[in-house]
Amino acid sequence: MLTEGIRCFIGLGSNMGDARANIREALKLLVNTRGISVVSSAPLYRTAPVGYTDQDHFINTVAEIYTTLSPRSLLDNLQDIENRLGRVRLIRWGPRTIDLDLLLYGDESIHEPGLEVPHPRMHQRAFVVVPLADLCPDLLVNGERVDELARRLSSEQDIYAIA
Ligand code: AMP
Repeated sequence: MLTEGIRCFIGLGSNMGDARANIREALKLLVNTRGISVVSSAPLYRTAPVGYTDQDHFINTVAEIYTTLSPRSLLDNLQDIENRLGRVRLIRWGPRTIDLDLLLYGDESIHEPGLEVPHPRMHQRAFVVVPLADLCPDLLVNGERVDELARRLSSEQDIYAIA
């Protein structure tokens, strides 16, 4: 397998239609993207909505990839996959067919219009941190081991492994 490039983590979430199928389809499109190699993905989790809470639960996971793409080009590809899966944006943090977030791009810090890496809210969200800890428990996120962070956040937020 090609593992050339920078190791990155992508957060995936869906709460419209067949959410599991949407996640599976997004992973398939990621696998088929030139310049991206998907090396692993975490189990699926069912999670309570955060922010706008009057909506269905989410299915979430995290994928570990290697990429030869620049951060901006990777984000463009993620947005292209969102568009191809028919994402509709009606309400911020509201229901969506699929949401793909660039969580980490190697150990780079990026602060550009429309691109913040590490993803600025990832360390507050069990639905990101718990699957990330499955893939790489000793990773440091916001200065803390991700498995410690996962333990803490999963005691505060509803999150259940489903597969
Ligand atoms: P949302 O719909 O809440 O996922 O936000 C998507 C918007 O966040 C897009 O306009 C992106 O340009 C911006 N954005 C900034 N940083 C990131 C990131 N690390 N991953 C995904 N989207 C990002």
